[in-house]
Amino acid sequence: MTAVLMDGKSVAARVREDVADQVETLVEQTGVRPGLATILVGDDPASQVYVASKRKSCVAAGMLDLHRHLLATTTQRELEAVVDELAGDPAVSGILVQLPLPDHLDPDAVIARIPASKDVDGLTTASAGLLARGLPGLRPCTSAGVVELLDAYSIPLDGAHAVVVGRSALVGKPLAQLLVARNATVTTCHSRTASLAEHTVRADIVIAAAGVPGLIDARGVRAGATVVDVGIHRTPTGLCGDVDFHSVRAVAGHLTPVPGGVGPMTIAMLLSNTVTAARHTVSR
Ligand code: NAD
Repeated sequence: MTAVLMDGKSVAARVREDVADQVETLVEQTGVRPGLATILVGDDPASQVYVASKRKSCVAAGMLDLHRHLLATTTQRELEAVVDELAGDPAVSGILVQLPLPDHLDPDAVIARIPASKDVDGLTTASAGLLARGLPGLRPCTSAGVVELLDAYSIPLDGAHAVVVGRSALVGKPLAQLLVARNATVTTCHSRTASLAEHTVRADIVIAAAGVPGLIDARGVRAGATVVDVGIHRTPTGLCGDVDFHSVRAVAGHLTPVPGGVGPMTIAMLLSNTVTAARHTVSR
């Protein structure tokens, strides 16, 4: 068997087009154009690239780019004041604080000031609580992107056994909850799990979000299973993920490549969250 590759680039492009249509409908109906406020503190090169890409996609979807670039010497109090100002500004639909922040700043205290209604990264405790309770809210972008990609390839979730490898607040935990909400039976594995492959090999869907290159190989995948690789690692020969692509491709039914799988979905879901946040703001 050779796995069908799940093309995150083209699914993400479809999501972005759909978001652009939703933006124009919202503008026509309410006169409100959604605005995304990204906050970058300092000049970390990788963060600059990520923020530039988010801003570009936001403008391409017809939304306002309300970016704030702050000096690396910004104090906790100054940064929190900027977040508070954006939180109270009706032109701002969504707020995203680019992480990591410089070492002298406390990210948790900053993120805690983002209202759940503008938390387009889905990272606040309030958003996590809404997800845990199964209530409407903004979901973390990468996890939501994985579910969107599974849906785009019509992978059945209802009654499926999914194994999520990783339990971070950013990816693993919210993903497990999103899958349970879709009626999957979910096993969460992590760094202390004994005999990882014995769990993953029984799964209909394996999602690797451990940050360990090549952690899942063909011995941990049942023939025909769906394998989603969230990991991203830079190597001298290019990007790779948490899945040993070549061996797993020979046994899986569906597989995401790295790059071009989950990565593009993350920004697409950020845009989707921003238009959702804008719609809720105007309907209040
Ligand atoms: P993290 O380091 O916060 O969490 C990793 C998790 O994996 C932990 O819960 C840990 O218990 C588990 N783990 C570590 N080693 C393990 C092992 N040997 N066996 C089983 N579980 C193990 O990382 P994160 O923020 O959740 O990110 C995970 C990966 O996903 C990273 O490679 C990151 O770069 C990537 N990522 C990609 C995107 C994207 O848009 N594609 C977004 C976020 C993160």
